[in-house]
Amino acid sequence: MYSHHSHSGDYIAHGSDPLDEIIARVYELNFHTYCLTEHMPRISQQYLYPEEYICNDVNKDLALLSENFEKYLKHASKIKNNACVDPYIRTSILIGMEVEGCDEEHLKLANRILQQNSNVIQFVVGSCHHVNSVPIDFDATSWMKALKETSNNNLRQLFKDYYNLQYKMLTEIKPLVVGHFDLIRLYLPSTLRVNTNTGKVVTDQYSGGTPVSEIQNIMTYWEDVKELIVRNLKFIDSYGGCVEINTSGLRKNLIQPYPHIEVANLVKQYCSGRFVLSDDAHSVSQVGTNYSKALKYITNDLKLDYLYYLSDKNAIDHRITVEKISIKDLVKDPFWSNDV
Ligand SMILES: [Zn+2]
Ligand SMILES: [Zn+2]
Repeated sequence: MYSHHSHSGDYIAHGSDPLDEIIARVYELNFHTYCLTEHMPRISQQYLYPEEYICNDVNKDLALLSENFEKYLKHASKIKNNACVDPYIRTSILIGMEVEGCDEEHLKLANRILQQNSNVIQFVVGSCHHVNSVPIDFDATSWMKALKETSNNNLRQLFKDYYNLQYKMLTEIKPLVVGHFDLIRLYLPSTLRVNTNTGKVVTDQYSGGTPVSEIQNIMTYWEDVKELIVRNLKFIDSYGGCVEINTSGLRKNLIQPYPHIEVANLVKQYCSGRFVLSDDAHSVSQVGTNYSKALKYITNDLKLDYLYYLSDKNAIDHRITVEKISIKDLVKDPFWSNDV
């Protein structure tokens, strides 16, 4: 089994459990490939999360993020080396970083970190967790702020802002794995009423509007939003990138993993169906979580022939290559004998 995206409580405030315990669980579950992808540090106060204010001094809080990231890289290298020499470990450990596509400054920083650590960091997961500098996956209140204040209370505009920022991240970084492609849907309230022509939120219950729950395939409902998604996917395809099926959406009560079916079908059409699988674990209990549901999604809904994964075994210089396994073989993976 494979996961291309993970975190731990050692290095980020919203994770729990030490990295060593998470890795012990990975070995116990007999993963084929497991990728460590801690968040890159953020360097401006506006992107600090509430739980990251711990030093009573913002500069120290920001410096701590960088220090922790340095420690993460050392720790990850140690884990990888141990896994390589231990004949009883089947798992291939890959070292990555989750890019924070917050803004131009952070994209430049991401590239600097990659250059400085090119001997350690093997690939990146490219993600956007903010729209117009407001977090969109932290809580419902922040998501509403991104909608109301930065996207003019227009859902269609919020989607466009998100996919335009994602495009900027994609073109600057060219991440081999694109993280939770349609994360913008996480806190979308089903009761939100919008004008289906303009996308404007209708706040007055007497002025009509349609609840989001009654709009099928909301992410691709507006043609201009769909065009941005297709543009982004075509670009990912152009450099051989992969889109992850990320099961963290399921543990956060979405009905499907990221990306939902209407976007996933576009990945099949415009990005060569190059899906990798990720648990985006932040704790021991989240390792391989909801993978049975993901398998059903892959076989019954997406009807994929192949799942892709990253490997550093095939290139002579240990560069990462993108490999694939047929779904027929995937269902025979020893992982499924675990009760997950
Ligand atoms: Zn993320
Ligand atoms: Zn993540």
